[in-house]
Parts: sequence; structure tokens; C-alpha cells
Amino acid sequence: MNCPVCSKNNAEFRFIKNGYSILHCKDCDHLFTDYEPTAQGVDHIYSDDYFFKGGVGYDDYTLEKDMLIKRGEYYADKISKHIAPGKVLDVGSAAGFILKGFENKGWNGTGIEPNKSMVDYGRQNLGLNLQQGTIETIELKEKFDLIIIIQVVAHLYDLNCSMNKISNSLNPGGLILIETWDKDSWTSRIFGKYWHEYCPPSTLNYFSKKILNHYMSSHKNLLIDQGTPKKKIHSKHAKSLISHKLMEVKGMNWATVFLKLIPDNVMLPYPSEDLFWALYKRY
Ligand SMILES: [Zn+2]
Repeated sequence: MNCPVCSKNNAEFRFIKNGYSILHCKDCDHLFTDYEPTAQGVDHIYSDDYFFKGGVGYDDYTLEKDMLIKRGEYYADKISKHIAPGKVLDVGSAAGFILKGFENKGWNGTGIEPNKSMVDYGRQNLGLNLQQGTIETIELKEKFDLIIIIQVVAHLYDLNCSMNKISNSLNPGGLILIETWDKDSWTSRIFGKYWHEYCPPSTLNYFSKKILNHYMSSHKNLLIDQGTPKKKIHSKHAKSLISHKLMEVKGMNWATVFLKLIPDNVMLPYPSEDLFWALYKRY
């Protein structure tokens, strides 16, 4: 399989995860899953189970509502240094909580989300303009001043098609905000193949800051700002992720007993050393 970032066919095998090969591009250092999913595959991966059944997804995504709205507001404040509120598109919006945060700060939001339950929830409870589909398949009839891709770029099943579409849907001077996980972080290095972000077939591309910048500049988007988000995570979601991880590592099942000591209903600070955001301007 050709590298999704540099298109060269010079990848070496790194390890197997969930039955999929993770490959390393010897030309540009990118890591990716050796798998080319289809639109039908996306429907299956982001079924209601992903948002409500725990495991690699969420126990109940709606529990994170307030935290995610605040995160949207946090990013809207960061971005206000660079651009006045206008039209924002959220790619992979889920129920639209982050988008709601942008609307609270004066932005006019549109979201795209493959999961129908999430789209219905956001429309009915938050009054948001959400469209069901994926960036790869949906027809965008308008242009935007800002496109946000929050923890979604690793999941895009056709990276180049998505990025062409995103770049072409921006107004002149428009910005792209990406939040994603850093494969070169210490957390990723320490956990190796057990790092939480390696979970194909949901995740397909594993960026570092350097590779993302290189990739975005090849699509004519220049880095203008970046940072590490302050993050909190709902304890129920954290427990679901950790217990899933412990079950995976041989002989660690006993440790799940300690997880029961953490209360179910609190927000925990999340050490986001392996998470970063970057803001790009089209040129
Ligand atoms: Zn490459």
C-alpha cells in the first residue's frame, strides 16, 4: 500500500494491531494502517456501539457534553486572534458539542457526521445544522471561513480526497484547525503498540507534528499557530478506555479491580502530552 502522506511505495512492517498491519513509510516517517476501508465500513465502525458501548469508543458520549462545549469555546477564543467569527464546518462532529461551543462564541456552524443517532441528537437537543455523511462522500454547497477536524484526521478513510475537499471548501484566507494525537510523543513511545491511538480499523493514520505540518503544506496550508489542549475526561469514559487497555495486555486483568475505586461521575484531568492542535492558513 502506498503511503497516504507522500504517496511513495516504500513502507516497512512495524506490528500487528487488532489483526491489521501497521506500516512505517521509510521516505517520510509516517505510520499508517494497511487497510483501505469503504463508506460502508465507516457506517459499521461508527455505529451506535462506538458512542454508547464502551471499549475503544465511548460508554455514553453525551456524558462529555459540557466538557466538549467548553473545549469548543476554548478553541474559538484561541482562534479569535487570527480570524473574526464567520462560518465554521466541523468534520466528524458527532453530536456537535464542540460546534455548539463555537456557536456560543458567535460562529455560524455546520457539522458532518456519519452516525445518525448523533446527528439526530445534535439537531433536536442543540438546534445545530448537522448533515449525515462523511467528508469523502458529502456534497458541500457552500464555503467556510474555518474548518475544524478534532480527533478525526486519524479516522479519515480517504485522507487525500478529504483534504482536497476541505482545502477547496475554504473561503480565501480561511483556516483549518486540527487536533490529533502525536505518534512521536513520550506516551506513544512508552506504550508502543499498546498506545490507545493504535486502534484500527477505526484509526488509519498516525501523525506527528512534523508530518502533519509537512502534509498540510503539500496541500497549500501553512502552519500559523499550535499548542497542547488542556483536557478533562469523564471518569466513566476513562475507566472504559483503561479497562479495555488492561484486558489487552496479558496478565493485567487483575488491575481492573482498582478501576472500580474511581467514582463514575467526575471529570478527571487528562494528561494530554500526546495530544496537540495546529492551525493552518490556506495560501
Ligand atoms: Zn510517506
